[in-house]
Amino acid sequence: MLAEWTSKWIKVIDKFNDIVIDDFDYKKGIQGPITMKHCVKCIAINQCWFLDEEGKKPEEVNYGIEEIIKDTKNKIGLYHYNCHCKKIDIPKPKESDIKLIIPQGKIDWLFKDKSGWIKAMGHEPNNDFLEYLKNQIRTSYTLGKYYIMKIDNHGVAIGIQLIINGAREKSGKTYVLSSGWMVFSNGKLKSNTLIADWWKNEVV
Ligand SMILES: [Zn+2]
Ligand SMILES: [Zn+2]
Repeated sequence: MLAEWTSKWIKVIDKFNDIVIDDFDYKKGIQGPITMKHCVKCIAINQCWFLDEEGKKPEEVNYGIEEIIKDTKNKIGLYHYNCHCKKIDIPKPKESDIKLIIPQGKIDWLFKDKSGWIKAMGHEPNNDFLEYLKNQIRTSYTLGKYYIMKIDNHGVAIGIQLIINGAREKSGKTYVLSSGWMVFSNGKLKSNTLIADWWKNEVV
């Protein structure tokens, strides 16, 4: 029997904190009094969804036996001592569960600065291409084809694999690119760079 492909998804929840990354200004990111009560990482990941695999979810602490038996008032937590975060299992997200947030200016930038790339793949920088790109992002993300780049006060930055099938004279070709997003709460993704680069370690 073939091993079943399991793709378990988790959601991070801190029941003591209702604030999520979406609540902050895109440019300034997480700031203010809330950071005195909760650390930036735990605010950034609150209510966010991740594939339960290394590199695709926030790194957890691996406490050694000495730390576990150590006589300390600090409680062992998921991401650090005294961390309130819990992870719960959620069903694998469907493409329709994913809401893409594309801030103003990102689309103009794509059509202008990446127009050469788009045309080189046989497409045109227009709305049809944008809709196609958005669909490919939803598909890739729900398949877990992404990796975490960093977690800071702007949130969890991920690179999503973006597969573009060539069109017209480029049909039959497949282009593998990377697209930069921030993980927002409950299935939302906020665009950083729609077409960032070629996908790492992959030549097609
Ligand atoms: Zn924390
Ligand atoms: Zn925490």
